[in-house]
Amino acid sequence: MIKKIYKSILAIIIGHITVLKHAFKKRVTLEYPEVKPLLNDKFRGEHLFDINKCKACGMCQKVCPANAITIIKDENGLNEYSIDYKKCIFCGNCYYYCNFNAIMPSSNFELACSSKESLVITFKKAEEA
Ligand code: SF4
Ligand code: SF4
Repeated sequence: MIKKIYKSILAIIIGHITVLKHAFKKRVTLEYPEVKPLLNDKFRGEHLFDINKCKACGMCQKVCPANAITIIKDENGLNEYSIDYKKCIFCGNCYYYCNFNAIMPSSNFELACSSKESLVITFKKAEEA
């Protein structure tokens, strides 16, 4: 019984020492979302896509390891371009291989949404006019 009480007191003391040790260290967490993180300039977030620069060459689609890009063409060229963020692994291949700077990374990482459908971002030529 005394051994049990001793162990409990010791555990409480060790717990308090641990808390005190960390209380004076520099914080490594942020009060997100009030405080946003400082991101590296190589951070790969949501894609920025310029439908007017895109030549519908299909290179990004070919090099996408996650099969996240869909390109729909018609007789006038690109009609629809979509990125499926349910599949995208943010590898960056699409923009490394695009010769026309039509697709670029952004620092936006806040892609959470309430429906799976919203994770497919579609750009349509007609809507750009
Ligand atoms: S590689 Fe660039 S130009 Fe070619 S389809 Fe993809 S975004 Fe468009
Ligand atoms: S970042 Fe990678 S996985 Fe995502 S769309 Fe581009 S090539 Fe595909």
